[in-house]
Amino acid sequence: MPWPIGIAIFLATVLAMEGVAYAAHRWVMHGPGWFLHASHHRPREGHWELNDLYAAIFAIPSIVLLLGGVQLGWWPGFTWIGAGIAAYGAIYFGFHDVIVHQRLPHRYVARWRYIKRIVQAQRIHHAFEAKHGAVSYGFLWAPRPAALKAELKRRERAGVRAPKT
Ligand SMILES: [Zn+2]
Ligand SMILES: [Zn+2]
Repeated sequence: MPWPIGIAIFLATVLAMEGVAYAAHRWVMHGPGWFLHASHHRPREGHWELNDLYAAIFAIPSIVLLLGGVQLGWWPGFTWIGAGIAAYGAIYFGFHDVIVHQRLPHRYVARWRYIKRIVQAQRIHHAFEAKHGAVSYGFLWAPRPAALKAELKRRERAGVRAPKT
């Protein structure tokens, strides 16, 4: 496979992974997978949280595709897709775990507008520490913080009006 096509597949995979991560976060982690993700919406005790298992789960397709593409003679595109998934994982770790949640000590202060925006969006996601009713499920793409705050307010108001059960 010509490498420019490989690179294009790689980049498309990184972008597509944001969609996969959004969907997984919204409908799996805040759905049937909440029993693992809940640990991420509570203060962490120690170095690990159950939610970290998702990183291991997401690594499986990447490892399988890389193994197939590199070692087992599968279609070479799979190598690039596997590498794209791994790259997304690395970017995700750097942004979400290091910059937002400071799991590695650092003094980086976000100055670039884009980084500020996605950091704020993730904080707003954590403002709602429950399975249902959260906003902002993306990681590398996020709406403006003002829009997210307005949405949270709207839900609060809706919640106040809701009949108590
Ligand atoms: Zn969440
Ligand atoms: Zn988070």
